[in-house]
Amino acid sequence: MALLPIITAPDPRLKLVSARLERVDAAIRKLLDDMLETMYAAPGIGLAAVQVGQPIRAIVLDLQRKTGETEAGEPIREKAPLFLVNPEILWASDELAIYEEGCLSVPEHYADVERPARVKVRHLDYHGREQLLEADGMLATCVQHEMDHLDGVLFVDHLSAVKRDIILRKLQKARKQKLAAAE
Ligand code: ZN
Repeated sequence: MALLPIITAPDPRLKLVSARLERVDAAIRKLLDDMLETMYAAPGIGLAAVQVGQPIRAIVLDLQRKTGETEAGEPIREKAPLFLVNPEILWASDELAIYEEGCLSVPEHYADVERPARVKVRHLDYHGREQLLEADGMLATCVQHEMDHLDGVLFVDHLSAVKRDIILRKLQKARKQKLAAAE
């Protein structure tokens, strides 16, 4: 497995609409493995292929449920990765939920976003089998956030233009400073 570089906003590649996959073959599984490793290392809870420069409809997710605590009070988390290829929302609840969202492509910025509280998503899994995912809570938000990436949408696009511009300007400035420091 390998760590992949994550593209950060504002970068036009994040606006690409990702293409559907014909099937899940060994090359795609390799990409999914690398994406998962990259996501864990970041660390993050979701990553779309377009964020690592591959505009195809593939997502990895892992909310790593807390399963207990160590004697020192540190949370014990169990890995439970989800692989979603060609995901499609079949149903979304009228009920909405607000969660504070962040994104590996929008580093160090967080904002409340309102989305349907529950969704049913049809997708292919790691082995190319069709699956139905019924998500609520954080998972519902996370799935919708990642699916937005497949259509070139970032969580900041759900904010007011003023809030979005402030975040994107700060990111642009941070990127310039980083480049200047590297020279
Ligand atoms: Zn994201």
